[in-house]
Amino acid sequence: MQQRKTFESHIWLLAERVRAHRCQALSKRSKLQCGKAALKGMSVCMFHGGKSTGPVSEDGRKRCATAKTVHGYETRAAREYRAEKFKEMQELFDRMYSA
Ligand SMILES: [Zn+2]
Repeated sequence: MQQRKTFESHIWLLAERVRAHRCQALSKRSKLQCGKAALKGMSVCMFHGGKSTGPVSEDGRKRCATAKTVHGYETRAAREYRAEKFKEMQELFDRMYSA
């Protein structure tokens, strides 16, 4: 796995009078950090996804909801399995303490 390079967090604009957040995207062509300023409240510029508002149509939202099963380090299936096992463990503890 390629280790992520440390990117510059800020860029100076207008003859070093304005300091702005720098786009955190990596250029596919030059393999360098994008040189544009990030959009307000975003970590990337408009060309690297800053203008994206996500899926708009109903079909697109459904596709996105089914595609993104990973949140954090585990999948939904793994989370459900863990919840099921916790319930079983809780039942066993209840039986143990009631006996
Ligand atoms: Zn960019």
